[in-house]
Amino acid sequence: MNTEPLAILLAQPRGFCAGVERAIEIVEKALEIYGPPVYVRHEIVHNKWVVENLRAKGVVFVNEVGEIPDGAITVFSAHGIAEKVENEAHLRELLVIDATCPLVTKVHKEAQRYETDGCELILIGHAGHPEVEGTMGRVKQKVHLIASVREVELLQVECPDNLAYVTQTTLSVDDTSSIIAALKARFPSIKGPNLRDICYATQNRQNAVRKLAGKVDMVLVIGSANSSNSNRLRDLATEMGVISYLIDDEQAIKTQWLGGVSRIGITAGASAPELLVDKVIERLKSMRSATVSILDGLTENTRFKLPPEVTSNPFTIQKQVS
Ligand code: SF4
Repeated sequence: MNTEPLAILLAQPRGFCAGVERAIEIVEKALEIYGPPVYVRHEIVHNKWVVENLRAKGVVFVNEVGEIPDGAITVFSAHGIAEKVENEAHLRELLVIDATCPLVTKVHKEAQRYETDGCELILIGHAGHPEVEGTMGRVKQKVHLIASVREVELLQVECPDNLAYVTQTTLSVDDTSSIIAALKARFPSIKGPNLRDICYATQNRQNAVRKLAGKVDMVLVIGSANSSNSNRLRDLATEMGVISYLIDDEQAIKTQWLGGVSRIGITAGASAPELLVDKVIERLKSMRSATVSILDGLTENTRFKLPPEVTSNPFTIQKQVS
């Protein structure tokens, strides 16, 4: 058994991004102001711990607006929603607070602007992801969804000279760059956003995990299996030839993983709280003596404003007294 001290290195930055912090704060403030239950369509962010914690405080997570009772406080998740979902909520007169990340809203607006300009639209993203469904549902036309260079080659479009693309915010920067390059090679006049839609937090965490993977024998990415950005972090570390695991929390760590490992790197997806990083460190320390250090990296100062429904202009709700 390996008894040498374990060197634990933490990626910087890691964990919560500004969009996730805002979404969670919206739900917590909604609980505080309006009281439970607060209904949230879809998991507010893709993290099991966050969802369970909010559920324990009185949040009810639903898949569809139709499951929400009339007049209930309703929060839309950070991933954004299609226009028809928003319309359905208004028709039902639900009291809606939108926690869509402003960077996702920016992608919705880009897609709408290209549509207004008469472009045929391509979305680079993963089928079935709620952000992708939301973005596709923000325009009237059928959008071409692609996720690989191979799919660019197979793409059948109607107006090759009048195309535009947008991308999901949480993809791998490298994958997206190669897909965009393939699109530009095949359709030289294709339009796209000035800056890539990959958000600052995704980009920063990917840069940090690359740096981390170069210094360790194994990488643990804290994040849930349905978290797109967490999966990309694990993929990037794996592509660098380092054994990498995506774990929900400290309980997922297996003793045998540490055999032959002397330096272990930890990062966390944008929806995973720092508390889980602390728990993983504690668990590792209980398995072997360890030192902990943080790699040099960026400090993020991005903050997004909260919506008026949880700050200056709350809904007036008349609660029935039984
Ligand atoms: Fe917003 Fe980026 Fe965070 Fe997604 S990962 S919620 S786009 S800041």
